[in-house]
Parts: sequence; C-alpha cells; structure tokens
Amino acid sequence: MWDLPPETWARSVATMRRALTRRCPYCGGPGVYRGYLELRDSCPTCGVRFEREEGYFLGAYALNLIVAEFLGLGLALFLIFGTALREADLIWQEAVAVGLAVAFPLLFFPYSRTVWIAMDLVFHPPGAGPDGELRRHHLSRADEDGHGSR
Ligand SMILES: [Zn+2]
Repeated sequence: MWDLPPETWARSVATMRRALTRRCPYCGGPGVYRGYLELRDSCPTCGVRFEREEGYFLGAYALNLIVAEFLGLGLALFLIFGTALREADLIWQEAVAVGLAVAFPLLFFPYSRTVWIAMDLVFHPPGAGPDGELRRHHLSRADEDGHGSR
C-alpha cells in the first residue's frame, strides 16, 4: 500500500521530497492540507492517521521554531548588513528582523508537520517493531486489506 523504500537513505529522500511538496509522506498522495496551515487528521489517499497520539507534533513545533528562527535571523542579518538596509534607521532594521521572526515560523509551520512525519518514517518505518503494530491499528483501510501489503 505504501511505496516506502526499505533502505534508510532512499526512504529519507522519498519521504522528505513528499513532505516538502505538501504530499503525504506515507503514500505521496496530494491534498493532505486543508488550506495553507492546517494538516488534515488523516491522508485522503491512503487513510493513515497523521497525529498518532497526543503531543505527537510537539517535536515539529520545536523543529519549526528552531529552523525558522535560525533562517529568519540569518536573512535579517544579511538584509541589515549586506544590503542598502544598512543605511536605514534602526527602527526599520528592527522592523525587518521582527517581521521575519514572525513570518518565517508561520511560513514553515505546515511543512514542519509533514517533515516531522517523514523523519518519523525514516527512523521508525511502519511494520518494524511494536510501534509499527501500533501504527497499523490506526489504519482503517489497512485493516480491511489485511496487514501484509505495503
Ligand atoms: Zn497517504
């Protein structure tokens, strides 16, 4: 059912590409977001539940903040020291830095969730160990198809 390469590296590439193109990291199907920011509860194509337990996405929030603030700060420093903004008043430099600090985490927020799922898939592929068993219980369609196919 899921087209996930068994080798870790190939699986990383495949799931990350799906995550960054707003597709389901499990099956590659489209439409996993409702609007720009909101991730659906489950994939419309393969039916996998995205939030497996309460707090599953906490790491995604942290990852998003760190990456977004790091990139936002980098861009702000570049704009302030590397462009004509250097000559501008301090208030404008601050406005740019604060604007980026707010905009980047919002911009990256939806991606952080699919990237988080992709990372989870890289390190804990479904079907491996007790966690794989747990995950399969969340799959409505897999239960009908039987468990052997992936
Ligand atoms: Zn899917």
